[in-house]
Amino acid sequence: MQFSSIIGQESLKQQLVQSVANKRVPHALMLLGQEGSGHLSLAVAFAQYLNCESRVEDDSCGECSSCIKSQKLIHPDIHFTYPVVSTKGSKPKSTDFIEEWRKAFFENPYLNIQDWIESLDAENKQGNISVEECHEIIRSLNFKSFESIYKIFIIWMPESLGKEGNILLKSLEEPPDNTIFILVGNSEEQILTTVLSRVQIMKVPRLKDEEIIYQLEKKETVGNKEAHAIARQVDGNFNEALKLAKNSEDDNEKLYLLFLRICLKGSHEGKSLIDFCEKVNTDLGRENMKGLLRYGLDLMREVFVLEHMGEAKARLTENELKLAHYMNQRLSFQSKEEIIKRLEESCFHLERNANPKILFMNLGIFLSHLLKRNEVVLT
Ligand SMILES: [Zn+2]
Repeated sequence: MQFSSIIGQESLKQQLVQSVANKRVPHALMLLGQEGSGHLSLAVAFAQYLNCESRVEDDSCGECSSCIKSQKLIHPDIHFTYPVVSTKGSKPKSTDFIEEWRKAFFENPYLNIQDWIESLDAENKQGNISVEECHEIIRSLNFKSFESIYKIFIIWMPESLGKEGNILLKSLEEPPDNTIFILVGNSEEQILTTVLSRVQIMKVPRLKDEEIIYQLEKKETVGNKEAHAIARQVDGNFNEALKLAKNSEDDNEKLYLLFLRICLKGSHEGKSLIDFCEKVNTDLGRENMKGLLRYGLDLMREVFVLEHMGEAKARLTENELKLAHYMNQRLSFQSKEEIIKRLEESCFHLERNANPKILFMNLGIFLSHLLKRNEVVLT
């Protein structure tokens, strides 16, 4: 992960980069910030920067072999420690869960501890960094780094260390040369004071509303008004913002699939096309209508991805996947392009104050003809 892919936190990024330029990288650093501020991403990007073989201005190159391994979280000199649960034996260690960790981080680098524990199907368990894990860290310290200059230990959620953390004190205080600890924590009060006193703390501020809005609009295709509303609710927590954006995406998925089913069958769940258009007109508001059309466009893009790059690359839910397969079986390239063109035109006109009821009606009639002509079936 490069600094450039992390939202905001420009001054912190600068401080980290400067610490390398001035040869003043602390051997034990703690990035302390609230959930969703991006502190874990900063730790990962800093580790990549430290070991990059040809740093560019203010960032790692993203291309050298060290960067490539760092990006995949498989660099042999970048170790991760995080709370784990006892679903894999009685003395679980972080390395037992490394696949799950990579997956969870790639899905959402802003995740919190609950998200992480839930991703392990262990909702009711308490995550813990065990005494065995601490011993493992100390053992690894004895080995030289494999490939890069720095050996880096990223410890996420040192709140989960408990008294066991004291085993690490000496290592935090005087690690071997070129060994760097980066701790990433949320809550100073819940971290051992003995640990806190041995690390250099860098506070990671909460993200600004405008940074969250920009990111939601550009990357998550959330409408402007909705992005503002989400930013207001989450108070700088991008993890929370992603969840709210996802909920509205789920709503869009349901509504758009209902729309397609009505287009195909004339009515669905007792709703005709006219009922649907009236409901959209009264319930949604223009921003959400645009969101619904944009959802339709995104879905069509993923239909193409599915066809050309396969299921692994397509970002589709189970329901969407079924539909996307039908579309690829039944619709020609031209038909799919026609749908995209129509959706784009509809977005265009909606932005210019077209009457939403008529606009969705026209779109519905068009889709109805096209889907029926191609004998698309929806369950
Ligand atoms: Zn590099």
